[in-house]
Parts: sequence; C-alpha cells; structure tokens
Amino acid sequence: MNNDLNIKHDWTIQEIKEIYNQPLLDLVYRAATVHRSFHNAGEVQVCTLLSIKTGGCTEDCSYCGQAARYNTGITVKSLLSKKEVVDIAKRAKEAGSSRFCMAAAWREVRNNRDFDIILEMVNDISELGLEVCCTLGMLSQSQANRLQKAGLYAYNHNIDTSQEHYKQIITTRTYDDRLNTLNHVHKAGIAVCSGGIIGLGETSEDRINMLHTLGTLFVHPESVPINALARVKGTPLAELPKVDVWEMVRMIATARIIMPASMVRLSAGRAEMSTEEQSWCFMAGANSIFTSESEELLVTPNPRLADDWKMLNLLGLKPMVKKINTDNP
Ligand code: SF4
Repeated sequence: MNNDLNIKHDWTIQEIKEIYNQPLLDLVYRAATVHRSFHNAGEVQVCTLLSIKTGGCTEDCSYCGQAARYNTGITVKSLLSKKEVVDIAKRAKEAGSSRFCMAAAWREVRNNRDFDIILEMVNDISELGLEVCCTLGMLSQSQANRLQKAGLYAYNHNIDTSQEHYKQIITTRTYDDRLNTLNHVHKAGIAVCSGGIIGLGETSEDRINMLHTLGTLFVHPESVPINALARVKGTPLAELPKVDVWEMVRMIATARIIMPASMVRLSAGRAEMSTEEQSWCFMAGANSIFTSESEELLVTPNPRLADDWKMLNLLGLKPMVKKINTDNP
C-alpha cells in the first residue's frame, strides 16, 4: 500500500477530462492500480443508512422523493425515537456494518429539541464502536462543533452536480451554501462525505466539473458517494432515462484516480444493477456500499441484505473493520 500519500489537490479540469475520457478498459485498469496502491482491495466498507426523519422537506431538489412539493406518495415520518435508532444501529453492527449514517429530510439543522435528541443518538451510537455519520441539511459552524463534541465521525452533504448544472436541479439553496456547510464540517474536525448524482440530465462536462470541485476542495472528501439517479415517480426527473452502468464505472474510476485515499461509495442505483455490473464498479475502485435491513435507501429501493452478502462472498470481498483515513479530517 502507498505510504507516501502524495495526494494531488490541484487538478485542472483538462487533467480530469483526459482521465475521464480514456478508453474504458485503460481507465478501469489505471483506477484498479491506484485502488490497490492506497487500499486493501479485498475489503469493502459496509455502511448502514437510516432515515430518522422522512419526507416533508421544504427544499425543491428535483430528484428527491422527500420534497414536500412533489406528489410521491411516501409516508412522512417525524423523528424516530432514540431507542428505535440505537436498536437499529446495534443490529447493523451485528450484521457487519462499521458505519451508521442517520439522515433527516431537513433544509437545515435548527437548534431545537430534535437536534438535542440527534446529539444524544450520535453519542450513544459512537459508544457502540460504530463510525457515526449524519446528513441533516445545512449546518452552521456552532452546530458542526456540537456534533463533533457528541462524537460524530463524518457528515454527508453532497454537491450533487456541477455548479453550472446545479440551478436546473435545485433553486432553494445555492451551490455556495453547500460548500459553506462542507467548510463548517471540515473546520469542526469532522470527516467530510460528499459526492454527487449522475443521470440528472447533465453533460460529461458537468460530471468532470463536479469531480474537479470535489478533487480540489480544501481537503479531499473522506468519502465520495457516487449515485445513479433513482427515478422517483412524482418528481420532475422521474422520466429521465436509466443511467448506463458504464457511465457509473467511468465516474467511479475517475473519482478513484483523482481522490485516491478517499472511500468511493457505490450508492443509490445498486438495486437496478446486476452482480456483474456492481463487480465492474468494485473493479473501478468503489470500496464502500450502503446496506439496509429495510431494502430501502431512504425512500428508494436497495438490494436485499442477504443478496449483498452473497455478492460480497462471491467476489471474495470482506467487510472493512476500520477504514484507512489518510487525507481527512
Ligand atoms: S435531497 Fe434533502 S434537502 Fe433536498 S428535498 Fe430531499 S430531503 Fe430535502
């Protein structure tokens, strides 16, 4: 493994474009080589994502089934109790997860009783020995500091797409709002988890620009989720075409090369992928997945837990016990 950790942070768009546009097999080979240099390629980080507050969100993210303004038929649920969440975290740990991520469909965190309860959840779950992650919307610096004190390991806040395409997808908050939250997270000493979604009607240029933003952030995100659009009925993007698996492979491989020490997470979209297709994503450098006992990733489908273990066994991949953190926080 690479102990030199000479990680590049000054990528140009042209450099990323040249990597992204390589012939696919050359790109995968290069990404697989980088992957083996920085990580144990026989390990996959198994993460559990739980929606602790579902739906009713005021934002207008046009891919999201939880936005109140779209008629998606999901059941809105208020914040789960601490006991429910901690019990699920215990089961996730027993099932092999090393990271537990709690998601709340909020525009931003407010300093109220719900936030106090989440701080208690973070504390109790981190004491179980799990890495705890939250995704709760925008955060102020003082809120990020409180989460860090409670034991939060990572905070997820995706940039979603390129700055140029962003306005077509979300109008209720700006790209800079997102980057400010990431900055607060980093300054608080919490690992940054940030990636994006493909299949939002963006061009290859947008994908390259998004990867450029991530690869030149103040620090490479500790985790980079690469999502394929999960087309939710009732949202403005429901009729867009399914993302081609080779486009996922190309994104994952490029992310792996430009952010070599990061965990690259094959996230939404796995439910529509065969084992063979997911194998290509692992070969291209993905080394993290979400599993779920409910077979849902928030409000979209995720593979059955048993099927995931069957796939990991088939590929000889073992759950990572402790992630190698080399560039963040
Ligand atoms: S992606 Fe998050 S912020 Fe956007 S509508 Fe969905 S829950 Fe709200």
